Amino acid sequence: MKNILSLLLLSALLLFTTATAKPKQVVSIIPVPAKMEIGKGEFKFNSSTKILIDDSGAEFQKLGDLLITAIYNATGLKLAAPSAHGNKSGDNLISIQNDKNISDSEAYSLEINPKKITISASGGAGIFYAIQSLLQLMPVEGKQKNFSVPALSIQDSPRFKWRGMHLDVCRHFFPVEFIKKYIDILAFYKINRFHWHLTDDQGWRIEIKKYPKLTEAGSWRKETAGDGKPYGGFYTQEQIKEVIRYAQERYVTVMPEIEMPGHALAALTAYPELSCTGGSFETGTTWGVFEDVFCAGNNKTFSFLEDVLTEVMNLFPSEYIHIGGDECPKERWKVCPKCQTRIKAENLKDEFHLQSYFIQRIEKFINSKGRKIIGWDEILEGGLAPNAAVMSWRGIDGGIAAAKSNHNVAMSPGTHCYFDHYQGLNGEPKAIGGYTNLEKVYSYEPVPEVLNADEAKYIMGAQANLWTEYIETTDHVEYMLLPRLLALSEVVWSPKSSRNYEDFSSRIMKHYDILQKKNYNFRVPTPLDETGEYLLMNRKPIEFLKPVKESKIFYTLDGTEPTEKSKLYTSPLKISKAALLKARTFLNNGRTSPTVSLLISVVDTTKNGLNYKYYEGNWDKLPDFSALTPVKSGKVYKLSLRDFKPREDGFGLVISGFIKIDKPGEYNFYLNSDDGSKFSIDDKLLIDNDGPHSSRTVSAKTGLAAGKHKVEILFFEGAGSQNLSLEFEGAGVKRMPVPASAFFRN
Ligand SMILES: [Zn+2]
Repeated sequence: MKNILSLLLLSALLLFTTATAKPKQVVSIIPVPAKMEIGKGEFKFNSSTKILIDDSGAEFQKLGDLLITAIYNATGLKLAAPSAHGNKSGDNLISIQNDKNISDSEAYSLEINPKKITISASGGAGIFYAIQSLLQLMPVEGKQKNFSVPALSIQDSPRFKWRGMHLDVCRHFFPVEFIKKYIDILAFYKINRFHWHLTDDQGWRIEIKKYPKLTEAGSWRKETAGDGKPYGGFYTQEQIKEVIRYAQERYVTVMPEIEMPGHALAALTAYPELSCTGGSFETGTTWGVFEDVFCAGNNKTFSFLEDVLTEVMNLFPSEYIHIGGDECPKERWKVCPKCQTRIKAENLKDEFHLQSYFIQRIEKFINSKGRKIIGWDEILEGGLAPNAAVMSWRGIDGGIAAAKSNHNVAMSPGTHCYFDHYQGLNGEPKAIGGYTNLEKVYSYEPVPEVLNADEAKYIMGAQANLWTEYIETTDHVEYMLLPRLLALSEVVWSPKSSRNYEDFSSRIMKHYDILQKKNYNFRVPTPLDETGEYLLMNRKPIEFLKPVKESKIFYTLDGTEPTEKSKLYTSPLKISKAALLKARTFLNNGRTSPTVSLLISVVDTTKNGLNYKYYEGNWDKLPDFSALTPVKSGKVYKLSLRDFKPREDGFGLVISGFIKIDKPGEYNFYLNSDDGSKFSIDDKLLIDNDGPHSSRTVSAKTGLAAGKHKVEILFFEGAGSQNLSLEFEGAGVKRMPVPASAFFRN
């Protein structure tokens, strides 16, 4: 995973100069409707406002009840039960009409004038979406029984039929009550598919009556990443029915995912005879990809999966059943006699074609029950099953290939649609990596440019995925989901031409209040994207901090946590001396952003700095740099890797100079790197952090006299993510990055 660094401070400056106070948006519907005209006046709600329904069917009646409940929850106003008979031309009326002229069952029209509100659609989904739009027009402030919504006319319909949101309940498990809360917020933003990732290496989460060990053994793991605590949970079939029913009432299709042939360790723990080796196994306790997968040569594997899928299809009415298909290592199949016999018997070229055989066989079974399969884009390898749809996650190429061969596609590329990635660069709770902020999600275009109009028809839409390796609590799930879900909803619902991030940024302010009122945990935008250390060259003052509309920013310069009693940010800060800046956004509703921090250092360009030599090569440990010729050399002020402007992978650094110590004493140094590094001081090796590894810190102590000490840092980057940092503490210095003001070239 690549960590993408970083937004330039300059952009924060530009944003500051262009951001001006705007009048409050009256209409803040998200996703923005396809067509909307603002009228004159407003419709006033009061306790005698009536609801009339011109369709006496149970579905419309239920929607009328839903509207009454939603209005009550939003405002405290309790309207009388909807009536199927009454004077449609009366005043103070909400008229819900079944309009068969509207062809798309998800489309609707919403007409509001001072006399009445008319909602029309040809199906329940359209009425439901009209209600969501109407609810977003209502005031959010407190309880009030007399309120109004602006006169307007909306003709709205979705751009895509596949508007999905996924949740992984295997890496961490979340209870039914939370799944309902999750579906609530999806439906409120007109998302119509909930992709429920129910089975994986770390846990099997769905009760299967015929195979009770799946949940007895497979829903538990003995610990998580070495914490020593047993962890588990699953949904009974009754609970699953309850969730499906709940979602149906909100026009959300719940699509189950049953992973195969890989990500099967929990299932194999319960039934080891379905593996190539026979076991034994343990439900996964760490993350990643495991080599033990379902045996593709064993007919028992297929009868097991068909039994499981039969129970799954009896529960879930979803047209598509997700069968996973991703990240299936072929190691076991290569040496398994049964798998090899299958390859010969079926005349398959290799193990990739065996995977394709596996998926096609499952597809045939699912098709025979009148359903369709969808799988991650690896199902393209070795040949795509005839009717399969593809979920493109490793970028967009899988989606393009599938669309070009006339297969349906749901786009979900990691670049824009992975909500397990960081939303900011500074102060965020732990995430898997990456950087996918709100604006990036908003910028996503589901139809790849290279497709022609006919091919583009196979793009059913898009969805975002929320994997939960590093997300343990429901609060954290909500934080990762919100507000990015709002950006996604506009990507998949609104016409491409009406999407505008600036406008979205204004409309979202009301939604921060709505989310607060609905009691969701959401990320508040931070006042700064810059992270790490900021250098004040030659003591030039610098302005920064990015204002967030309709909010206050409080900050401190002494490293303490900002509160509403700290300094209020009103104009660009003029900072001219070393400081540890901390800042935080406070919304008017009381919610706050994470605290961002920035170390501000004063450097003298004639004296401070470090010398470096930059090398390129592919190593798996630190090479003897003295035997190599550097590609370039120069001066840096801090260790931030991007300051060396390296190539993406395969490079090394020798960084040398002096550290100035103010007070004598014991100092502890912490060297963190990905990949390997070494740190020497006074010509003695102090820290050896060599080898190809992910981010790892090694520390060591040494006594130092006041004054300058010669230092050398060696570093190499193999491939993938990369970082390098040096911290110290001791003699009155709390643990902190060695500041640029302490580095000298001589
Ligand atoms: Zn096998």
